[in-house]
Amino acid sequence: MNVLIVEDEVNLAEALAHILRDQHWSVDVVNDGGSGLSYAESGLYDIIVLDLMLPVMDGTEVARQLRAKNVSTPILMLTARSSIQDKVSGLDCGADDYMTKPFSTDELLARMRALTRRTGDVVLDELSFGDLTLDISNMNLNCGSRSIHLSQRECDVMKLLMRTPKAALSKEALLARVWGVQGESSANNVEAYISFLRKKLNYLNSRVVISTIRMLGYRLDDTGESAK
Ligand code: CA
Repeated sequence: MNVLIVEDEVNLAEALAHILRDQHWSVDVVNDGGSGLSYAESGLYDIIVLDLMLPVMDGTEVARQLRAKNVSTPILMLTARSSIQDKVSGLDCGADDYMTKPFSTDELLARMRALTRRTGDVVLDELSFGDLTLDISNMNLNCGSRSIHLSQRECDVMKLLMRTPKAALSKEALLARVWGVQGESSANNVEAYISFLRKKLNYLNSRVVISTIRMLGYRLDDTGESAK
């Protein structure tokens, strides 16, 4: 599991990171809202722990912008405040759950597990973009009446592209997420799988293409017309 912590109290952020790494989570920490937004936009995280009061951009604005960009990663909002109004505005802006500081580690872990399970069960069961739908449960990519089965890796790559439709995903990010950082993988793996997926999109006669964005990576685009 990959978690992003956005928290400007450095000691708290590091303590949280330590606890989560002990649970074998992979953790990135940033200390302001602007960095939080740009990291979270990558779509590489399974959950985001987001403080409310942050420099540069506050937590509600980070959550609002992520949802506006169709990034559906679950967000657990942290705050020192405890009034009902703050809770309501946090949930309105797209956060999935809310915890008031100080909190117990056990409760935090329980809530994080609940949120990531919810992602796996509901939000990510089926993804759509343009005329495509990806059924995660059986790894079938569907377009109109046509359907094609994807391999596990193809499905993982497609899932990431579909989860962040408006942002380019770098080769490095795809490698780290699909193949893992310790593997013997290289950028060639990514290119090969992008090529497999392009052939399958062509077979499906989909309007959707995988665009190569120079210096940035890959992005799904809906061309508005089918391939043939
Ligand atoms: Ca803060």
